[in-house]
Amino acid sequence: MATISGATRLVAVIGDPARHSLSPAIHNAAFAACGLDWVYLAFDVARGHALEALTAMRVLDIAGYSVTMPHKTDVAAGVDECTTAASALGAVNCVINESGVLVGDNTDGEGFLRGLHAETGLDVAGRRCVVLGAGGAARAVIHALGRAGASEVIVVNRSAEAAERAAGLVGATGRVAGPEAVAHADLVVNATPLGMRSYSPAAVPCDPALVASAAVVVDLIYDPLETPWLAALRARHLQVCNGLSMLVHQAALQFERWTGADAPLAVMHGAVRGHLMDGTP
Ligand code: NAP
Repeated sequence: MATISGATRLVAVIGDPARHSLSPAIHNAAFAACGLDWVYLAFDVARGHALEALTAMRVLDIAGYSVTMPHKTDVAAGVDECTTAASALGAVNCVINESGVLVGDNTDGEGFLRGLHAETGLDVAGRRCVVLGAGGAARAVIHALGRAGASEVIVVNRSAEAAERAAGLVGATGRVAGPEAVAHADLVVNATPLGMRSYSPAAVPCDPALVASAAVVVDLIYDPLETPWLAALRARHLQVCNGLSMLVHQAALQFERWTGADAPLAVMHGAVRGHLMDGTP
């Protein structure tokens, strides 16, 4: 890490908890690689205190925040302006301090699209897409797919009400269906935690045998790097992609918003991979 000086710019992740986050590893590696006098820290901010963290940002001239659970909605309501994506989702994952004006953005959806394109070459315009899940990550992906011109965005979710709300993000392009919809999809995205090491490592979000053999498949989970679901689809020779590319690309977009510099994608990829492999928080 570069030496801290009086001119060092500060960015941080706020969450409850935040200290487990991979973001400090990713961003500090990127700052060092670009020779930027910036540092990225993690602040545990208790639920209900996000607005005080925004006040601190103004008072201390903190350059940016990444925002994680449970503060995304509170921060969306507390910033001075929201981007189109952040206001449609009602959730902010990145705050940019533009000379005292706090701008809330949400880089998850665009990060997903960029990661998908980088890994698979897929352009989602005109494609039939199925998203499994209707939580925060799913909503960002659904919104981005709609904006990028997907012909249909089909939401499959345990709770019907959340599914309807998520499909509504993309108007007439969105609809709710059962898991059998994956049989006719060009793109299938798992945005549930089913298969996550810390949640239910053996579970699958749908029967992998049902997925269309020509579909591109993305599992947003990155720990483990390959879930049992993704492994089963790879064994069927489908084109598959894990959650690492979205994680890196949403961070790269944040880095670019704060610093105005191009993000060093390979360095950021290497940092996150290194931490996932050695288990360091
Ligand atoms: P979330 O807001 O809590 O949403 C979870 C979704 O999964 C909900 O739709 C929920 O359905 C569904 N779900 C949870 N447990 C289930 C179960 N046992 N059976 C069926 N459905 C279940 O979580 P999130 O923040 O969207 O995260 C979802 C996944 O995406 C996580 O694995 C997370 O690690 C990953 N993620 C990855 C990235 C990345 O950069 N790669 C970014 C964000 C998130 P209900 O509506 O019925 O509760």
